[in-house]
Amino acid sequence: MYLPYNMKIAVVGTGYVGLVTGTCFAEVGIDVTCVDIDENKIENLRNGILPIYEPGLEEMVNRNVKAERLHFSTNLGEAVKGTDVVFIAVGTPPGQDGSADLKYVLAVARGIGENIDSYCVVVTKSTVPVGTAAKVRVELEGALAKRKANIEFDVASNPEFLKEGAAIDDFLRPDRIVVGVGSERVEEVMRRLYKPFLLNGHPIIFMDIPSAEMTKYAANAMLATKISFMNDIANLCEIIGADVNMVRRGIGSDTRIGTKFIYPGIGYGGSCFPKDVKALIKTAHENGYQMKVLKAVENVNETQKEVLFNKAKKHFGNDLKGKKFAVWGLSFKPNTDDMREAPSLIIIEKLLAEGASITAYDPVAIAEAKHTLGKTITYAKDQFEALVDADALLVVTEWPEFRSPSFKVMGHLLKQKVIFDGRNIYDPAEMKQIGFAYYCIGIRTDH
Ligand code: NAD
Repeated sequence: MYLPYNMKIAVVGTGYVGLVTGTCFAEVGIDVTCVDIDENKIENLRNGILPIYEPGLEEMVNRNVKAERLHFSTNLGEAVKGTDVVFIAVGTPPGQDGSADLKYVLAVARGIGENIDSYCVVVTKSTVPVGTAAKVRVELEGALAKRKANIEFDVASNPEFLKEGAAIDDFLRPDRIVVGVGSERVEEVMRRLYKPFLLNGHPIIFMDIPSAEMTKYAANAMLATKISFMNDIANLCEIIGADVNMVRRGIGSDTRIGTKFIYPGIGYGGSCFPKDVKALIKTAHENGYQMKVLKAVENVNETQKEVLFNKAKKHFGNDLKGKKFAVWGLSFKPNTDDMREAPSLIIIEKLLAEGASITAYDPVAIAEAKHTLGKTITYAKDQFEALVDADALLVVTEWPEFRSPSFKVMGHLLKQKVIFDGRNIYDPAEMKQIGFAYYCIGIRTDH
């Protein structure tokens, strides 16, 4: 019997990366089974309920399930049988010492070795340190040896560069696809798999496996560096009376620097930058090298997460007891419900510790926030409800709907017309004109 599709793959782990990867491959006509150990997640997915918020994903999942190209399973054994490629896309959270914890990746590798029945390529899509593909190979070989099975396989590294909030577009129209391979045979399989994405000229870059593993860390470390660098410049601008927005435009017009990722703010968060920067520092340390720049990047970021809180404390004469704050935005960035390492968590923790109370609003992250923050804060139904009787507003995540609110209405709802804007989305001159005390990042506004 022939499969109606060109290739059959399995994607293990149905989080932000696995679910987007599996769905986008199904979208271009590949037979995909997404596997997860979380039974609840798989049951929900079968019923069209997604575990995460990602624009456009729900519709795409449902379309491909209906077309019978996308399947969900908790049975790794069944899913990997007869596949051309198995992706490992499970989490690699930071361990106690900052290194990437590989126990989920290696457990999946073992499971694949216990079940494959024909040649396949096992690909690490999770972000993993140099040397992990070799460990994956050892796990598979061990499992196959136990079964006394003589089945060929290869490993490859295919780090993922998608951005949460724009994940589908990033996957379907990638800046580049990086694949680490050890043989022409694997290169051919991976080229065939990605062919539908290459038709519009998106490049696929083949390299050796360690270089591919390192590329992902180097990319995230560079982006984190841009953020911390710009935050450092912003803090100095504020002290010496320069306007960081002007400086940003001034430097961004230099094509060697570029306009992207040089916006000052309240520090990077999310599931990737903090853990990947830590892991790279740790990898270097284990190999007798010190990543001096990245240590400073981390340092600046930790301090930056407190900047908005410090401004609030100063404004209210060091006394926040009994003050009520409205918080707009909880997720670590717009268009996602991801709360991992979100700056909002630090800001809220510090405000609560000072005896303040908080009412927060986020367009999609409230359910996720409740897991972490529970009843320590109040949640508003919309952005304006959060303002009622608050002594000040803190803009923490730059969701589009926060960008052009009615300041008149806000002035009526707030007890005091005070805004601490961690994302520089309003115009300081306008705010001054309409009588708001307005604090932002990298522009002195308290005079
Ligand atoms: P996630 O936590 O959202 O999802 C991981 C999934 O793996 C969960 O659903 C979990 O139940 C499942 N899982 C764990 N062990 C399993 C097992 N043994 N078998 C089957 N499923 C199992 O993680 P994520 O954000 O999708 O990240 C996955 C990897 O991709 C990480 O290494 C991350 O660094 C990397 N990455 C993430 C992003 C991002 O934006 N989130 C971008 C690029 C790369």
